[in-house]
Amino acid sequence: MDSQNKFYKFIVVGGGIAGVSCAEKLSSLCPEDEILLISASTLVKTITNYKKITKTLESFDVEERPMLSVETGCPNVKVVQKYVSLLEADKHILHTVDGTKYQYGKLCICSGGKPKLIAKDHPYVLGIRDTQSVKEFQNQLSTSRRIIVVGNGGIATELVYEVEGCEVIWAIKNKSISSTFVDPGAAEFFLSQLNKDKSKEEAPSKRLKYTLEDDKSSASSTTKLGGALGPDWSTHLHMTGSMQTSHQVHVEYLVEIQKLFSPEEFESAGLSESQVPESFICDKSWPVYVQLTNDKVYGCDFIVSATGVTPNTDPFLTGNQFSIAEDGGFKVNDHMQTTVRDVYAAGDICSVSWELSQHWFQMKLWSQARQMGVYSAMCMVADGQNEDIQLDFCFELFAHCTNFFNYKVILLGRFNAQGLGNDYELLLRVTKDLEYIKVVLQNGRLQGAILIGETDLEETFENLILNQIDLTPFKDHLLEPDIDLEDFFD
Ligand code: FAD
Repeated sequence: MDSQNKFYKFIVVGGGIAGVSCAEKLSSLCPEDEILLISASTLVKTITNYKKITKTLESFDVEERPMLSVETGCPNVKVVQKYVSLLEADKHILHTVDGTKYQYGKLCICSGGKPKLIAKDHPYVLGIRDTQSVKEFQNQLSTSRRIIVVGNGGIATELVYEVEGCEVIWAIKNKSISSTFVDPGAAEFFLSQLNKDKSKEEAPSKRLKYTLEDDKSSASSTTKLGGALGPDWSTHLHMTGSMQTSHQVHVEYLVEIQKLFSPEEFESAGLSESQVPESFICDKSWPVYVQLTNDKVYGCDFIVSATGVTPNTDPFLTGNQFSIAEDGGFKVNDHMQTTVRDVYAAGDICSVSWELSQHWFQMKLWSQARQMGVYSAMCMVADGQNEDIQLDFCFELFAHCTNFFNYKVILLGRFNAQGLGNDYELLLRVTKDLEYIKVVLQNGRLQGAILIGETDLEETFENLILNQIDLTPFKDHLLEPDIDLEDFFD
């Protein structure tokens, strides 16, 4: 049993990638100190098979494990499954929902986010965030003929690719698909994959293993708050609807959801359904109807709302002077400190507010959650010992590796020319169904790149972004397939 008001030098809240990475790093830096990890989830996310691909790109597997497994790997970490309900920062005390209080020296909040839903508590609107919600999605999908997916980020992109045996209407507010990650050119490259039969011989994913075990916890629904999923979450999951069709995706561009109707409301409004091209569905009675902002109306079995997350800050706010960023996250400085003394934050919960390096920016990604978790632990220890600490090198260059439509996707630096104004140049190399390479140059210097497929160019381009060599003399040959760039710049 935890004794009331027990003091811990370090407390971390959250069993997602950020929290677990933070607790593990604290454990290795301070083997003599007892560290407390509090999480509302019954499972924690642990990183295994960590590999550095280049200086800034990394790959790793994520395993969901029982909470206590953290204690096995890190004997000085104590783990409790509880929901934090209040923070009294002036007294350095955390309250959990069962009435227990914990006193800390330094606290790191890694409580992640919850899905922003297009309609709250609607029986036919589902958000996807954690393994529990994926299970619910699979269940509902198994009896479905048509779903509508709203959102244009990573979750939506992976979903529309994976779902089979069910028509998908993909409603996006942009001009091109997957726009959170890729530009319209790359979207075009992917588009041909949308309605293709998926190969049964696809290579197995090497990165993420989610167990999707039944959550047997007795925790109440308010405390059942799983960690967010990550890349490859969808790859091995059975996502099949009730029909015999393979892939059938219809995209509605430049739209948002205007209104949802029950069958009765649909009937009495005198609306009629818009036609989905090449639809095989005969029974057109639906439990819910969706009117888009282009006035088209579609019926469906349910709607997946994949429109981003809102940081889980609520339990920590009352009585404390946190500075909150526009996206709702805790602002943190270059030591991962919030504006409240001795309170740090990492992962999806935080919004960086230091002066960013030229080629890095924040995205709510699991690679950044890991890096921030580790770095915040280093800062907590250094600050406690009044030691200087330099911003970690991982914040020098944005680097992300993922998979879309079964292609390897690597994003480097300002890959979509973010923040470069209009004064930049794009170079492209596209081989249909094989690779898509785009580089962004400004003043002859490489600012970012999108590499889709097995291009093997990541290390060279990373170096070119980091060292900012003037590429003007080589520009015309930069993407020539027969030139070995590595030799060229060595
Ligand atoms: P979380 O994983 O959300 O963990 C938060 C933890 O805090 C949980 O354990 C929760 O139980 C706990 N908690 C919350 N509130 C409390 C409280 N009051 N008391 C106690 N505990 C609390 N990223 C990528 O890089 N690539 C992708 O392709 C990708 N795809 C994704 C697909 C899906 C479906 C989703 C949902 C996310 C995806 N992400 C992806 C994002 C990535 O998963 C997150 O950025 C990352 O996992 C965030 O980690 P975190 O530790 O900050 O937060």
